[in-house]
Amino acid sequence: MQTRLLPGTKALLPVIGQGTWDVPEHGARGEEAVRALRRGLELGMTHIDTAEMYGSGRAEEIVAQAIAGVPREQVFLTSKVLPSNASFKGTIAACERSLKRLRVSYLDLYLLHWPSSFAIEETMSALEQLVADGKTRFIGVSNFDVEDVKEAQAALRRGRLACNQVLYHLKERGIEKRLLPFCKQEQISIVAYTPFGRGTLAADMRAGDVLHEIAAKHKKTARQIVLRFLTRDPDVFTIPKASTVKHVEENSGAADFELTAGDISQIDGAFPARSDGRLATL
Ligand code: NAP
Repeated sequence: MQTRLLPGTKALLPVIGQGTWDVPEHGARGEEAVRALRRGLELGMTHIDTAEMYGSGRAEEIVAQAIAGVPREQVFLTSKVLPSNASFKGTIAACERSLKRLRVSYLDLYLLHWPSSFAIEETMSALEQLVADGKTRFIGVSNFDVEDVKEAQAALRRGRLACNQVLYHLKERGIEKRLLPFCKQEQISIVAYTPFGRGTLAADMRAGDVLHEIAAKHKKTARQIVLRFLTRDPDVFTIPKASTVKHVEENSGAADFELTAGDISQIDGAFPARSDGRLATL
């Protein structure tokens, strides 16, 4: 798996990581989901994204099962605090609960899941405290547009934002106009969530269209083309969620080839970026 420096840090992050929203929690599908996460780790998809919100903490417990026995430094763990918990004390307590469920002593990245009604100074101060206490290596935000990111940055006393995790797929390219250039300039990585549009792109990835034409040329699949396209900028990473070994193996093959300028302009033509540059959320 190709890795790149997390902008502004010395940490290496795989271009393709693994999401855990709606991960199957029980029975045979739950067991397969754990096997899938482990297979992803073997294949170098060591960035695992989770949140206290997912399955009300159950997703973090499933991640704990998948990483059990894996040396801690070989996994890059991201979790997120719910906006409703994002007071100073609430953020610290939420992080402690996530660490317990994940059965680790520290996170690599801890994010505010989306803008909250608590003062941003309060949440940022708590995130900085968590860094000072060794509970997380890096901090960031999610679903923040340019103005929100600026406010969060201004609220930080000594730390910096390492990441803004946002919706980004072929039919939601709003970040490309303002947010991505701004984050690049500020050395804040973009982690693209819902890269497959949670099914909204399924038809495009099945039919004999542009994606298939490009995929055939590179001996890849349409989904691999999608993931490669989304991560064509070196400061963009992605975290597809897959609950089967087969899907994880397919997704892991998305980082070992390059799209040509012609491929990119063909995809641009078929899936044009929005003109207003607004950040969309789910
Ligand atoms: P997604 O990754 O775009 O799509 C997941 C769907 O794609 C699942 O149904 C999965 O099926 C399927 N899939 C994955 N790989 C496949 C393959 N190779 N072939 C066929 N189907 C495949 O959607 P997402 O889960 O919304 O987004 C990814 C992650 O981003 C989440 O899990 C979460 O960690 C994060 N996220 C963050 C936020 C936020 O607000 N920060 C919001 C949404 C998501 P199977 O499960 O059956 O494999």
